[in-house]
Amino acid sequence: MMNGLFKNNILKVLTAALMTAVLCACSSQMTSLLDERELYSSDDNYRTAYEIFVYSFCDSDGDGIGDLQGVISKLDYIEDMGFDAIWLSPICPSPTYHKYDVTDYTDIDPEYGSLSDYEALIAECHARNIHVYNDMVMNHSSSQHPWFKEACDYLRSLAPGEEPDPSECRYLEYYNFTDKQSGGYSRVLGTDWFYEARFWSEMPDLNLDSPEVRREFKEIAQFWLNEGCDGFRMDAVTSYYTNDKNQSIEALGRFVSDVKEIAPGAYVVCEGWASQADYSRYYASGTDSMFDFDFADSDGIIAGTVRGSSSLERYVTAQISEQELYASFNPDYINAPFYTNHDMGRSAGYYAGDDADAKVKLAGALNLLMSGTAFVYYGEELGMKGSGKDENKRAPMQWSSDAGAAGMCSGPAGMDSFSMKYGSYEEQLKDPYSIYNYYRQAVRLRRIFPSISRGDITSIVYSGPGSIIYIKEAEGYAPVMIAINASSESVKIDIPDEASSFNVLSGSLNVSSDKVSFRSGTLTLPAYDVAIFTCE
Ligand code: CA
Repeated sequence: MMNGLFKNNILKVLTAALMTAVLCACSSQMTSLLDERELYSSDDNYRTAYEIFVYSFCDSDGDGIGDLQGVISKLDYIEDMGFDAIWLSPICPSPTYHKYDVTDYTDIDPEYGSLSDYEALIAECHARNIHVYNDMVMNHSSSQHPWFKEACDYLRSLAPGEEPDPSECRYLEYYNFTDKQSGGYSRVLGTDWFYEARFWSEMPDLNLDSPEVRREFKEIAQFWLNEGCDGFRMDAVTSYYTNDKNQSIEALGRFVSDVKEIAPGAYVVCEGWASQADYSRYYASGTDSMFDFDFADSDGIIAGTVRGSSSLERYVTAQISEQELYASFNPDYINAPFYTNHDMGRSAGYYAGDDADAKVKLAGALNLLMSGTAFVYYGEELGMKGSGKDENKRAPMQWSSDAGAAGMCSGPAGMDSFSMKYGSYEEQLKDPYSIYNYYRQAVRLRRIFPSISRGDITSIVYSGPGSIIYIKEAEGYAPVMIAINASSESVKIDIPDEASSFNVLSGSLNVSSDKVSFRSGTLTLPAYDVAIFTCE
């Protein structure tokens, strides 16, 4: 019979051996260990979201067009990646493939299915704790919307020179009609009247001054929230009032307060494609999130950092300064980092040379290591290609290299014919160092360590050429220390004494089979790799 002390010693030795095994574990072993870790689930709006361009994601009925049943069939994939929210591109009836010009705000485009398909999608998502955000296009409607058609028909019915009478057509005030022609306005055919349409003649701008339009959108929000929708991605909020930021912010604020009155926990994230100085001010509307455009696209901070044209230190200090900037407009803000979306060329085209695939991976990590609700555009986890015309940026999700395989979409008409740079999902699934497996690991790390998504950056522990180490802390959660090597060479870093409490190498993102190691306070971080430390 063992005495207590002996038993304790055996336990200590076994624990030490286990820790050594963990610390020295090669990447694939660490991957499998992390695979068994539980993903942290929040009840609030700190999420990791997947942007789905529905038309090109997954086709369930063989017509080549993605649809809601197709999305449902891929929820296991989305959940396994670690995403706990999806943003659906517009799903309401529309004459275009992208459906950003809506003809009926409270129905589903027949190409995508029906309201009962939407309800099934909501039920399946909520069973997996995945939130669903609808795209809300409030800046403009389709020129085919009954509101607009009725208003134009009325104007056409007037005798020459006759003044319109708003009491005879309630939809006149829904749009901005004028008898003076100017830039950004299109003619109502058959009349001398013009209407504001800044993006395109078939997208007439809505008059957000109108209490009736506000009432309509409150009812639309109510409709979708009743359907189980968890929030909205607001399209083009900086275009609500051309050249008048304050009015745009006020109009957004009215909608946000209507949404929060109906469902206080609902989430609102906004597209304001503008400078950070401009889009940060939209937090004053009370919106939860603004997409963090400064970090996105081929010329944003993430791509610049990976390319080496901007320093890792800037990547970190820019996050520290925006923490204060956004909080100054809305103390409850949740940042919405993203790297690419349906309007941007895909990441696979940003980098050339031997290290290109490592750079695509690291860029994905730099997005997913940021605080807030991070968004990933579908297909980026496969390194899909697509640039130039918009249709190319919305190419069919590469489930298989066989374009005729089940679920494959045909893509928007007018898309150029081009081949992908990296393999399909089927192929990448088998390769532990594929872009897919890297992204999956990055999303899951974000879910395993809540301080990655919920924390503020509280200190920079080390900053060297091409590498950096910093700490993220969130009240109520274990802090993490993040080490990033954005250079093409392996680095050895002695962890400074003041950070020595972060003594457990708890996770890593590896672009190759080179190992991350941590021995006697020295971290060896291979080229383009990331390591996550926690305290014992
Ligand atoms: Ca279909």
